[in-house]
Amino acid sequence: MPLDRRHALTLGFSLGLAGAAVPLLGAGTAAAGVGPIRPRIHERLEWEARDPREIATVVRRAPEFIVIHHTATSNTMDDTLEHAYRLSRAIQKHHMRRNRWDDIGEQFTVSRGGHIMEGRNRTLYAVSRRMHAVGAHTADHNRSAIGIENEGTYARTGPPLALLGSLVKLTAWLCEQYELNPYEAIVGHRDLNNTRCPGDYLYELLPELRERVWHRMLGRRFDPAAWELEQQSFPRRGVLFAERPERVFDHGPALGVSDSP
Ligand SMILES: [Zn+2]
Repeated sequence: MPLDRRHALTLGFSLGLAGAAVPLLGAGTAAAGVGPIRPRIHERLEWEARDPREIATVVRRAPEFIVIHHTATSNTMDDTLEHAYRLSRAIQKHHMRRNRWDDIGEQFTVSRGGHIMEGRNRTLYAVSRRMHAVGAHTADHNRSAIGIENEGTYARTGPPLALLGSLVKLTAWLCEQYELNPYEAIVGHRDLNNTRCPGDYLYELLPELRERVWHRMLGRRFDPAAWELEQQSFPRRGVLFAERPERVFDHGPALGVSDSP
């Protein structure tokens, strides 16, 4: 759905986000094209993705939804780029060997260290042309939904700030590229399928994510401190609590009958 800036701006006001006098200036800035720049995204060559069995289908229209997932892996404290690359390779291996899919399912992966990786083949090619490389992450919605898998399991604990900061940047860039309204486009996996993904704690952060994304689209600097306040409202065990998924990599229905090309 195309972004109705006026509508979102009104939402911004009603949510008390915009601050008294600046929103019209902000809207002007966004309209003038000073939108979010593309964050650093590590391409498939960098994390040494294996070749897909089949080249991804690219549909010539923007997706309707940006779906937020968790990876259902352990909440590691390893924030290195090497670890992030290993994560992408492990997910791809699981999706191709265990699930027998053509390639890694999601379009993007964000590690707990905040590193962003391209997922399914042709994703960056498609996004840069405002098209959509069809993946496998949300059953019966894959032709109209682009998926971001966030490393960890968030049923009982919140994600680290590094991850949230990168998620804001990536999502804002996608909303800008596709002209999506963040208040309508950003959803959790559980909004579309019968699953607990992306976990209660990450799901609870989605309203905040939408607001941060909208601020960034208006050209305002992202202020990580705002997330910090949000984090502190969680139980003290918070980020450091070692949460483990019941079944690694299994975050809910990812392919449905109406997803076949
Ligand atoms: Zn999911």
